[in-house]
Order: sequence, then structure tokens, then C-alpha cells
Amino acid sequence: MKRLFHLIILLFTVSNAIAQVISIIPKPAELSVKSGTFLLNSECSLQFDAANEEVVRIADFFNDYLQNMYGYKIEEHSEGRAIHLKISSRVKLGKEGYVLKVEQNSIAITASEPNGLFYGVQSLKHLLPIEAKDGELKIPCLDIEDQPRFKWRGNMLDVSRHFFPVSFIKKYIDILAMYKINTFQMHLTDDQGWRIEIEKYPLLTEKGAWRVGTGEEAWNPFVGPAIKGKPKYGGFYSQEEIKEIVQYAKDRFITVVPEIEMPAHSRSAHDTYPAELSCTGEPYLVFNMPDSITSDFEIPLLCAGKEETFLFLENVLEEVIELFPSEYIHIGGDEALKTRWEKCPACNKRMQDEGFNNTQELQSYFIKRIEKYVNSKGRKIIGWDEILEGGLAPNAAVMSWRGTEGGIAAAKANHKVVMSPTTHCYLDYHQFQHEKNAYPAVGSFLPVEKVYSYEPIPEELSEKEATYILGVQTNLWTEYVATTKHAEYMLLPRLQAQAEVAWTKKGLKEFSDFEKRLESDYQRLEKMGINFGDHRR
Ligand SMILES: [Zn+2]
Repeated sequence: MKRLFHLIILLFTVSNAIAQVISIIPKPAELSVKSGTFLLNSECSLQFDAANEEVVRIADFFNDYLQNMYGYKIEEHSEGRAIHLKISSRVKLGKEGYVLKVEQNSIAITASEPNGLFYGVQSLKHLLPIEAKDGELKIPCLDIEDQPRFKWRGNMLDVSRHFFPVSFIKKYIDILAMYKINTFQMHLTDDQGWRIEIEKYPLLTEKGAWRVGTGEEAWNPFVGPAIKGKPKYGGFYSQEEIKEIVQYAKDRFITVVPEIEMPAHSRSAHDTYPAELSCTGEPYLVFNMPDSITSDFEIPLLCAGKEETFLFLENVLEEVIELFPSEYIHIGGDEALKTRWEKCPACNKRMQDEGFNNTQELQSYFIKRIEKYVNSKGRKIIGWDEILEGGLAPNAAVMSWRGTEGGIAAAKANHKVVMSPTTHCYLDYHQFQHEKNAYPAVGSFLPVEKVYSYEPIPEELSEKEATYILGVQTNLWTEYVATTKHAEYMLLPRLQAQAEVAWTKKGLKEFSDFEKRLESDYQRLEKMGINFGDHRR
């Protein structure tokens, strides 16, 4: 009996120790822990195919991590314990899957594509203790076979409401990569600023990227009101910087999806080219307030009657498509109140000529025409779920944000869908009840538990219809997020929760287990100098 008791204590201790160590986020599809440990220190060897550029880069990333976290790198040599990074067509876990085996004398990460190898390395990083003991890191022996549940594991950052420098965008991409997020949407244009250089229309960034203060607005509660008549706040990415961001993300197996908003959320364009773009021909200044515009008087739509509008958008999209190699180009399409179009002679003429009965059909015409252009360049459009109204463009994908109805309708009509409902995916909401009055944020309350509880496949869909759900995306709108530290705070740990929703098998998800893994994740973030909203407070 005493022996049995000791055995139980021993098992308890071992399982506890393991529970502390195995803190991979998102949780792998299959994991079995074995006895023994691999001891990682500077004597270990790193073995990989030096002729494969992508594999070399992945090895370098791992070494950079060791250097930053523990102060040493490992090299390739033939002696001693080794970490092997291997590409092998024998691994049948898809493009992003990998096998990770930790034995006492070797660690092997094997994948059929570099994408999977990169994710295997992310998992290995999560297996390392936060602190080395005498330069040594104990890694438990185990076997992992892993692959993602969804193809689209996305996050969007709004760089229009507040502008973030390239250095932060790179840090942000690194954070996404840590949790195997593979799609990064940049919300590049909105009423509050145009953030991408377009060579054909220099005014978009010379003027449209800057908010000029009237001295009264409180759009930026963190840095105070604008100064009357002075360019106070703004910024944009040059085309060279965009190329740098796209390449930086690509090296980390992340696709950058650009978003160019139309026909609404376009004041920054109206500010610069009013005669061509506005129904009235009147300019609308880059908006100085953080919140969405509530009065329809203030909402200009890009004119759907003028040919100049389409010429402008095609020229803009031509440069955007050149810069971003993504399969999808996001064209916005949300929150277009049609009052302006109803009063516009050019828009009314278009409706008469085309035989439209309402402005929803005009919006559908607008989006379909843009889709035709984007398709002619070999790309596809994706838009917020309002693009369903008046008839969806033939090849368009839908990002379902106003709930799940838009996503359900689109999937039933055989269109691809990314689920991104405000209820579970909007990171501009407060994450803690007690902070509701402490600082401004948009809308309601979204704690990490709720993000974690999200199931992206709606019950209403058949098995076949469910295959149209590409995945899930969280969105960080930045009306009230002015600093990089605050952006990190709003992002984490809700991003980790979404990463698990997007990657991990449904049956393996358990919040209490996720919370345990977050403990060491928090320690890692602290050591890396990344801010987060500690949900334990
Ligand atoms: Zn018009």
C-alpha cells in the first residue's frame, strides 16, 4: 500500500512537472509524452539542409530565439546531441503539418513543406523552459503529430484610426507567427487616414494621411486634442516599406491581405480628390473623431455614377495588387448608408440606365465591377458581409462580422467565408469588466474565455456547406488604441485563444487546460518584452 502511495505521489509529481512544461499554444492535434529529457545547451548541434534557403532561414530564426532568450546559439557539427530540421515528402500532414520527436539524444522536426517545419519550430520554442539552468534547457521526450483545423487563421490590424510604424508591424507579425497565425490583414484606408503610398495619386498620402486639427476634437484620448490648423497626427507606408512588410511576413509564412475600403469609410480619399470621387464634388476632410460616423450627412460614399470613381479605384488597386501577392484583396464594403447615392444625379442616372430598383442593387453593381477588375488581375475579392446585399459578386468571399448570418448565407450559396463575428472576434472591445470605465474602448465586453469558446462552423450548415468556411479571424480596430503597448495589450491573450480556435481540433479544446498553458506563455511574453492583458487579475 505504501509503495502504491509512493507511486501515486511520483506519478502526480511527474504529471505536474509535465503539465508545467508542455505549454504549446495552439494545442497540437496529437501529443504523447515519454520518459526522459533532452538537454539543450550550447554544445548541441543544429542539423539542416543548408542548400534550402527557407530551411536555413527557419534554422536562423530558431537560433535568434535562443540568442535573445538564453544568450547563445547552436551550430552545425557532427558530435553530440542534435536538433534536426528535415523536409520529407513522407510526412502526410498537409502543407502546414509537422512531426516533432524529442528523444534523449536528438530532436527531429519533419514536415513536407517549410511551412510545417516553421510551425514545428514554434512548438519547440514553446517546449523550452523560460529560464535556462546553468545554460541548460530540459525538454521532455515526446512525440507530436500536428496539423491545423482551418486554412485561414487571420488577424486584422487597423492602421488607419491610429498609425503604427514599420518596426511595430514587424514585431506584431512576429507575435502572430508565434501562435501559427498565417494571415495578416492590414486595414490601410478609412475615414481617419490613408496609409499606403499610391504613386499615381500622391495626394492620398501627402494630404489624406494626416488629420488637421480644429482644436476641439478628442479623437486621441492618449495624446490629447489636435492643435488648431496644424497637421497633428498621421503617417503612411511608402511602397518600399510595404514591400518590406510583405517580405517580412512571407518569411514567417504569413500572407498579408491589404484592405482598401469602398464605397464608404473613404473620407481620406474624398479629402484629396473630391471632384472625381464625391457625389457632390465637395471635399470631406480626413475625419478627426475616433468613433464611426453616426450622422449620414457626414458619410460620403464614393460615387457609383461617375466613371472617374472606377478609374481611380482600378488605378489604386493595380498598384496594390502589384505590392501584395495575396490570393484575396479585401475591398471593405461595410457600413455604406446610401443617403448620398439616393440624392446624387449621377448615381440616379446609373440606376435608371441599369434598371435598378434600389441602392442596394447599385452597391452590388459597384462591388461586382470591382470584382471583375480584380479577377482580371488573377486575384479574388473578399469583403465584409454587407457585400451580400443586392446580390453577391460571383467569385467573392465574405468576411462575416455582423454575427454569423452573413457567413451562413454565403456558405449556403457556395461562397468562401471567413468567420469574424463581433461577438467573439472584435479585439477593440474591453477584455475586463473592471476596465469599462478606466479607458475608452469600442462597444462591449469580450473576455478571453469568450474568444476561446467560439466555434467557427455554424450548426446551420451541412457538412458540405461547412467546407466553405475557410477559417476565423480576429480584428483589432484602433479607434481607441493609440500606442503600440496598448495594441499588444488588446491583442494578447485573446489572440492565443483565437489561434487555438483556428488550429486545434474541436474535441481537444478545454479552457482550463488552455489557462494552464497560458501561465508559461505569460512568462515568455514578459521575458520577450511583449505586453498583454493578464486575465488572472
Ligand atoms: Zn453619386
